[in-house]
Amino acid sequence: YKVNKAEFMTSGTKPSHYPPTELPEIAFGGASNVGKSSLINSLVGRTKLVKTSKTPGHTQTINFFNINDAMVFVDLPGYGFAKVPLSVKAAWGPMIEGYLAGRPTLRAMVCVMDLRRGVRDDDMMLIESAPLFGIQPILVFTKADKYGRNAAQQRRREIAKDLNCPPGELLLYSSTKGEGGEALWDRIRQVTGV
Ligand code: GDP
Repeated sequence: YKVNKAEFMTSGTKPSHYPPTELPEIAFGGASNVGKSSLINSLVGRTKLVKTSKTPGHTQTINFFNINDAMVFVDLPGYGFAKVPLSVKAAWGPMIEGYLAGRPTLRAMVCVMDLRRGVRDDDMMLIESAPLFGIQPILVFTKADKYGRNAAQQRRREIAKDLNCPPGELLLYSSTKGEGGEALWDRIRQVTGV
């Protein structure tokens, strides 16, 4: 899938800030530092569309990006960063719920995880919340380049066994090597119909 346009639209913390629901939407969620920004950037072939940062932001916003005037990518604030103030942590759930509940155009939630860390409790909450809002979770395990090819497949089977799902449902990704983009785009195009 060729991305000709990838543009920041707006960011916000509550529904009145969000753009009108016109185009099909794909949300991206994951723990802080899991590699979510890198994944979105590599997926759209830009280096700095989503700003990556080593320090956790104290203001967490939901960021919207127009992709090819055909769909909207939504970057949800990362969760689970120990150094984020409690008030920010407490605001995360209601903010995500408010977003999920108000987007009839949302087609899927890409749950970004680290292949080494596997599925944590926080991740499980995000994965399990998707069907409650009528959408599919797409499970992506990034930093797959930290393993050799066979070891990565082994790790994938282990996680699939824990989740009680076929290994084929788990997508492996590497932003540094640019691997896994095709399979992820296939899923995104399937759910958006683009
Ligand atoms: P975010 O907080 O989830 O948006 O994470 P970032 O995209 O900022 O990435 C966090 C750190 O992981 C950075 O140091 C990245 O360079 C590194 N990283 C992200 N994706 C990959 C990947 O696919 N492979 C490797 N080896 N490192 C990655």
